[in-house]
Amino acid sequence: MDFKEKIREIEDFPQPGVRFKDITTLLKDGKAFRAAIDTMAERLKDKEIDVIVGPEARGFVVGTPLAYALGIGFVPVRKSGKLPGETVEAGYSLEYGKDQLAIHKDAIEPGQRVLVVDDLLATGGTVSATLQLVNQLKGKVVGAAFVIELSYLEGRKKLEEQNVDIFSLVQY
Ligand code: AMP
Repeated sequence: MDFKEKIREIEDFPQPGVRFKDITTLLKDGKAFRAAIDTMAERLKDKEIDVIVGPEARGFVVGTPLAYALGIGFVPVRKSGKLPGETVEAGYSLEYGKDQLAIHKDAIEPGQRVLVVDDLLATGGTVSATLQLVNQLKGKVVGAAFVIELSYLEGRKKLEEQNVDIFSLVQY
């Protein structure tokens, strides 16, 4: 399936100069959504992953069905102040902004094999902060998976420097 055809591009959102990749057009197409998740699951099924960690909000949309397909657990990473239990935190910067991410302290057992999942890899800032959180909990990051990779922003290089294997369904 040509997944690119299902992803809408919107110029200058959320600010001038950003070409936003909108996956809502992929998500609302049941066949395309299922094919996207199934393709990712097929690629990742032999990595012996114990748990998927996904940052809000679109990391939930991709990470939870992928966890379900692989029969493993899902752990949410949220903006600071949103999770109800005790958390650890890490700062990060986006292609268009800055923020602080949090994870529940007891969400990952030391040594668990973790896959980080988000909708899109841009600069790698979000995933790097998520890696810091997993590292603080002594999880072992075995890879990071995305629907979309913006190759021109070199997020891959940033993550590979941290020895993280990357899988992306479509590249721009
Ligand atoms: P980064 O931390 O730079 O890798 O940015 C990745 C995060 O920001 C993902 O959670 C994306 O949802 C969002 N994002 C960044 N750039 C874009 C873009 N051009 N189109 C859609 N989402 C984006």
